[in-house]
Amino acid sequence: MTALSVVIPMYNEEAVIPVLVARLRPVLDSLDVEYEVVAVDDGSADDTANLVERCRLDWPQLRLIRLRRNSGHQAALTAGLHRSAGDWVVSIDADLQDPPETIREMLRVAREENVDVVYGVRSDRTTDTVFKRNTAGLYYRLMRRIVGPDLPSQAGDFRLVSRSVVEVLRRMPERVPVYRLLIPSLGFSSRAVSYTRERRAAGETKYPLRKMVALAWDSTADFTAAPLRLATWLGMAAFAASLIAMVFGLVVWANGTVIPGWTSLFLAVLLFAAVQLICLGLLGEYVARIYRTLQSRPAFHIGSDSADTPVPASVVP
Ligand code: UDP
Ligand code: MG
Repeated sequence: MTALSVVIPMYNEEAVIPVLVARLRPVLDSLDVEYEVVAVDDGSADDTANLVERCRLDWPQLRLIRLRRNSGHQAALTAGLHRSAGDWVVSIDADLQDPPETIREMLRVAREENVDVVYGVRSDRTTDTVFKRNTAGLYYRLMRRIVGPDLPSQAGDFRLVSRSVVEVLRRMPERVPVYRLLIPSLGFSSRAVSYTRERRAAGETKYPLRKMVALAWDSTADFTAAPLRLATWLGMAAFAASLIAMVFGLVVWANGTVIPGWTSLFLAVLLFAAVQLICLGLLGEYVARIYRTLQSRPAFHIGSDSADTPVPASVVP
């Protein structure tokens, strides 16, 4: 019986794997529980998968799941969660920004206080860049407004969940959920454990601005239809403005003057065309999500799982 699974999504992380293994293994070995480490290679183009394979030769608890192509952090997490076997499942980043030693504390809290979720809350992010800290602050403020005040602030994807939570997640039809919002919204009993966010051990961030914006938009669109209501509010405001303008125009006309108006006319047309296109675009985003859900294509394809195959003979230590 595996008591603990540690899921680690990895995308082009060859630089951190040796340090990660050196720091994670002693922590897990000292826990006196049966464990497995589920490394999910998210279609890396570098030597990540080979390095993990090599480490597996003398670390039997290490397991490698390979996705056929880069599918994104949340998809890699999904693959790991769905395939993990433990009674408890911890998800952690590969780059050691989440200190593995905190896993011990998470497991202790989960067992002693008998809760289903233990969040890792970043109490100190001074090692992150100013830009990252500010955008993250904005993200968590916005999400708390959308999801509700129960959402722990500064809780990313470093957390421990119980098997019951994993089973609920596995049964959810969502393609790729934003776990940091979905899990708190399920209402399981939870505690938070705070930790200091460390500097990336090696390599570069795999979250460029483009992916950060995509995550923020997915988070918003998955949890609220408020952007769709924007059209209604803007429409009502425009209607009120047009009534006022109409009365104004009539009064001016009754007094015998005509307002010359190429500029104002042009700007009004342009402004409303822009607003309409933006609203149409927002609507399109939601329609695209419905369409994707209907297609129900899997968000990732598992190429191989070392739990299904023995250690390949081709790998030389
Ligand atoms: N990651 C992934 N697929 C991706 C991007 C990132 O599996 O497409 C993994 C990455 O290897 C790391 C974790 O997600 O283990 C978090 O990424 P990163 O540390 O680069 O993000 P940051 O800490 O800069 O937000
Ligand atoms: Mg990181």
